[in-house]
Amino acid sequence: MTPQRLEPMPGDWQRALAVVAHPDDLEYGAAAAVAEWTDGGREVVYLLASRGEAGIDTLPPEECAPVREREQRASAAVVGVRTVEFLDHRDGVIEYGTGLRRDIAAAIRRHRPELVVTLNHRDTWGGVAWNTPDHRAVGRATLDAVADAGNRWIFPELGEQGLQPWDGVRWTAVAGSDRPTHAVDATAGLERSVRSLLEHRTYIEALTQEDPERYCRTFLTGMVEAAAEQFGGRPAVTFEVFAH
Ligand SMILES: [Zn+2]
Repeated sequence: MTPQRLEPMPGDWQRALAVVAHPDDLEYGAAAAVAEWTDGGREVVYLLASRGEAGIDTLPPEECAPVREREQRASAAVVGVRTVEFLDHRDGVIEYGTGLRRDIAAAIRRHRPELVVTLNHRDTWGGVAWNTPDHRAVGRATLDAVADAGNRWIFPELGEQGLQPWDGVRWTAVAGSDRPTHAVDATAGLERSVRSLLEHRTYIEALTQEDPERYCRTFLTGMVEAAAEQFGGRPAVTFEVFAH
């Protein structure tokens, strides 16, 4: 079977907003693309629905949250992202609903991105592993919030807070999708994506006995190399892109 050929990601944009559930969600792949984008002078902002405070078994949430927030900010800085915001939904029990959509729509209105990035919103990872409820909720709410951000009547309270509608989002790109349509060459960004994931050191050391750097490198290299056969042999980060 000839693999489906992925298109290069659109490049004619200046601002992106990446919205995910947890610290580390963007570092398991998308960060190599983020590095490529910021190298090109584009601005990328991260919005995290939670602080990932339920992510480490040995650390109670109140101790875990500041550690993971710090690691996320360091990890974003490695790929040229200076603005990292947290919505403070509760890790593990993030609910899809109008509250989450409104929070994300508010961020879209504040930052006025042309590209929105999120993580796999579907039930499974490629039909193999079950996805988490937080990823499903945040991914779906992000895809929905793009339209909410542009409609002044859906959340009129945002307008009253001075957040004017923004209908300038042209694409939403879903990382980790099993139905990718586009890709970003990861050659330039791969090494920084490894260091970016490595910044989540507390999380990774609790997750695996493997040497953290080797763990990060093996995972990310394997991922971008697996995508190469659909992208002219070049290592790549893949996205499912929805145009708006
Ligand atoms: Zn996650």
